[in-house]
Amino acid sequence: MDLLIVCSIVKLVVQVKLLPTPEQAAALEATLDAASRAANLVAALAFQRHCFRNFDLRKHTYDRIKAEFGLAAQAAQHVIKKVCDAYRTLHANLAAGHLGKPGSPRRAAIEARPISFRSLAAQPYDDRCLSWQHDARTVSIWTTAGRLKGVTFTGSARQLALLAAHRRGESDLVCRDGMWFLHATVEVADRPPSEPDGFVGVDLGIANIATTSDGVRHRGRGLNAVRHRHRRLRRRLQAKRTKSAKRLLKRRRRREVRFAANVNHVIAKSIVTEAERTGRGIVLEDLQGIRERVRLRKPQRVTLHAWSFHQLGAFIAYKAVRAGVAVIVVDAAYTSQQCSHCGHVDKRNRPDQATFLCTSCGFAEHADVNAARNIASRGETGWAVSHAA
Ligand SMILES: [Zn+2]
Repeated sequence: MDLLIVCSIVKLVVQVKLLPTPEQAAALEATLDAASRAANLVAALAFQRHCFRNFDLRKHTYDRIKAEFGLAAQAAQHVIKKVCDAYRTLHANLAAGHLGKPGSPRRAAIEARPISFRSLAAQPYDDRCLSWQHDARTVSIWTTAGRLKGVTFTGSARQLALLAAHRRGESDLVCRDGMWFLHATVEVADRPPSEPDGFVGVDLGIANIATTSDGVRHRGRGLNAVRHRHRRLRRRLQAKRTKSAKRLLKRRRRREVRFAANVNHVIAKSIVTEAERTGRGIVLEDLQGIRERVRLRKPQRVTLHAWSFHQLGAFIAYKAVRAGVAVIVVDAAYTSQQCSHCGHVDKRNRPDQATFLCTSCGFAEHADVNAARNIASRGETGWAVSHAA
């Protein structure tokens, strides 16, 4: 059985807004621009030489981009790493067939060119080029115009508290719509989960965003309505192809993402609260991304649906760990076709999207609730196995 117990350290990303003076903003902008031009040069050289490993690329490009673009040593290293990471993601996507079949025009077009970065692409900063003064709410940050001291930042009370207590590792400098942000990584260690008295299984879906083995269905009706509205609008605007249409689309998409995040928070809270109240653990399906790290970063080329699933899983895992609720992740293969009553697996057990009707024992249940029960019992088995060992 594929099983993962989410450990008691959670990584998440806290966003704070920078409030630079016009001069500071100009320096930040020049810095991101230089980093992007450097990244484009590195990407082109990597492409030309078929050299995508960090170590090799550094040999060829490190000195040159430092000199040509005025980058500090760490900034140059981050640029090279950023390019390597981008190629690794691209190659993985190509291999997985996400960008079309080999030989398809779309794929050929992607393969024919080096990766390129937009002029204000995000740039990672480590502790040597970015330091935080939490009491003064300022940062000191390296730029191509020298070190900027006393750049003010702001955020919610909770974000600021998390940052001051748990920030670790790199932060990304991000420019969006003329506003400046730092996305800082926070690592929160929590109390170890208590021994669960049973498990709540959670099935993630589209019509029902989350269904628990207790039979609670979180429909997120508002969310699907927003998505449909957005899709209709997108079709209309894409036909126009004007700049203002594009801007409007971008704004709408961001609003949709915020709305989805809020819905996910509410659902996650409800599920975790119920598990905590009843002393149970939570079992989630293994969605790639929950596995690796609970980090809310949007990977490239992932649909909002997939992204939203990962986010919900991540929110549940995060809130559960904070509450001391055990979380197990299980392989969810066939959970929708398997009878949670007798174990019989058959495609025909699902006469339609919403219905589960066992062809062997006659057990009937809402399809998502049945799947959630299977997930719960897989978690239970997994927990027993891993704790016996
Ligand atoms: Zn059955």
